[in-house]
Amino acid sequence: MNMIDAHVHLQGADLAPGTLAEGDRLGVKLFVCCTVVGMGYYPKFEAVSKSNDDLYAVMRRHPERVAGYCYVNPRHGKAALEDFRRRIEDQRMIGLKLWVATLCDDPLVFPFIEQAITYNAPILIHAWRKTVGQLPYESTAEHVANLARRYPEARIIMAHMAGKVESAINLIEPYPNVYTDTSGSPIGGAEVSIAVNRLGAERVLFGSDLYGACLASNIGKVLGAGLSREQLDLVMGGNMERLLGGVSHGTSQTRGIVQ
Ligand SMILES: [Zn+2]
Repeated sequence: MNMIDAHVHLQGADLAPGTLAEGDRLGVKLFVCCTVVGMGYYPKFEAVSKSNDDLYAVMRRHPERVAGYCYVNPRHGKAALEDFRRRIEDQRMIGLKLWVATLCDDPLVFPFIEQAITYNAPILIHAWRKTVGQLPYESTAEHVANLARRYPEARIIMAHMAGKVESAINLIEPYPNVYTDTSGSPIGGAEVSIAVNRLGAERVLFGSDLYGACLASNIGKVLGAGLSREQLDLVMGGNMERLLGGVSHGTSQTRGIVQ
């Protein structure tokens, strides 16, 4: 099986040590990465853009093994939008990453979503419902569902099953443009099974959340979910391969043509 890890973070300016060798050993052919870590929740534009430079350098060193989501802080407006455009069109990043600088359904985010739609690019959104310690702009499944309702053409990946699988899966179920990933320490085989049963295997993506997680145990929890061979192939790589195959890096496509 050729696995694709749809949710990976750089450690500093590089992959965590040993990532590619571990991928070789376990069968993960592609790591789809973003930055985020180490800049704080509300990073300045220069820090975000520098981190995207770091990611691009890693992509160039390992073009067959690493793909990149461009991280943006939507509060930076036009400068961030131009950074996003450049990363997709000139540097061939494949998607957009949103974290906790704004809620994902804030109007500040809309221009980024509209731009991502022109590329048919997946949008990986951190989402988490916490019992205590929710950050002020930390999106939950409700915010993801709001965004999906507004932009049915956007290809949205709700990370971590939003931390509370039962309620989160029910909230996104009506929106076929929303996928979820298997990363996150509260997500185990049972949660993967719930997501696949309610959403269909086509909407669940394997993700590890490296470097702050163990690749093998994250693969193990999907293997332990009791999926059929066909479902497993979709979750472990087939779905992400399909999403990546639809990404356009040009400027000329309109939304209508891309769709
Ligand atoms: Zn993450």
